[in-house]
Amino acid sequence: MHTLALVEAGPVLDRLDPVVLFSDVDGTLVGRGGSLLADLDGRPTVAAAEALVAAGRAGLEVVLVSGRTRAQLFEACRLLGLRDAIGELGAVLVLGREAELQWGASPRDLGATPAEALARSGALAALLDAFPGRLEPHTPWTEGRQGTALLRGRVEVAEADRVLSVAGFGWAAVRDNGRLRGSYPHLGGGETHAYHLAPAGVSKAAAAAAYLARRGLGASQAAAIGDAPADLEVGAVTGAMFLVANGAWAAAEARLQVPVVVTPSAAGEGWAEAVRALTGRRQAGRPAADGAATGG
Ligand SMILES: [Mg+2]
Repeated sequence: MHTLALVEAGPVLDRLDPVVLFSDVDGTLVGRGGSLLADLDGRPTVAAAEALVAAGRAGLEVVLVSGRTRAQLFEACRLLGLRDAIGELGAVLVLGREAELQWGASPRDLGATPAEALARSGALAALLDAFPGRLEPHTPWTEGRQGTALLRGRVEVAEADRVLSVAGFGWAAVRDNGRLRGSYPHLGGGETHAYHLAPAGVSKAAAAAAYLARRGLGASQAAAIGDAPADLEVGAVTGAMFLVANGAWAAAEARLQVPVVVTPSAAGEGWAEAVRALTGRRQAGRPAADGAATGG
């Protein structure tokens, strides 16, 4: 995949008039322990916090994109002064106080939410039954979910999807959400990953596209930033895709039309670097931007 260092990305970024920045949360905006005020090693930093303020002043709207639930994102947004978010891997669009479910290929007559449909249809049970001792609900983060079922363990995604398809649940799909830090020896040892069981057709990219369409915004008015392969899909619907330095390894998995721009620094510091690059473009096209110069 074509990657660019931030310092080389001027020609790509100059084509943007950024209004929205879709941002991953963990490892991107926040550091150790999920803290906005810590870097990846747990050292105090205000880089991301200052950049959030600078983004707000410049009119660059940050839209969090995460596997988290509506309730979790609603609280995070309030705390950070943000309005909208995309949750549960794209199954939940949080629009201020409202939330809109993205059903994808899920049947609508089995429950009030896609998560209920996944459980009541038997799709979730079929998946868990097929991988005893290898896959289990990712408690306690399974509570309050509306869009996807959250699991942990170690399975091949293609094999899991085959199990679903053979059992008649071809409308559901398993997505690898990356490696977990915790140790789960009862699941066979080795790496444990988090997985979402989601309706087919539900994705962060589909939700981001739906969001931009609702707002009447084009790709050149949006950018995305993350630290993992799963974040890169949003770059398919935005004019620029950033990886913070700790996620640079993920660029090898990108399948995008646009180059992936890698920030010099990791997590919150890198997030601030990307925001500075974007707010600079935003102000460039605007007379008398109101003192949006950023520190950090
Ligand atoms: Mg992340």
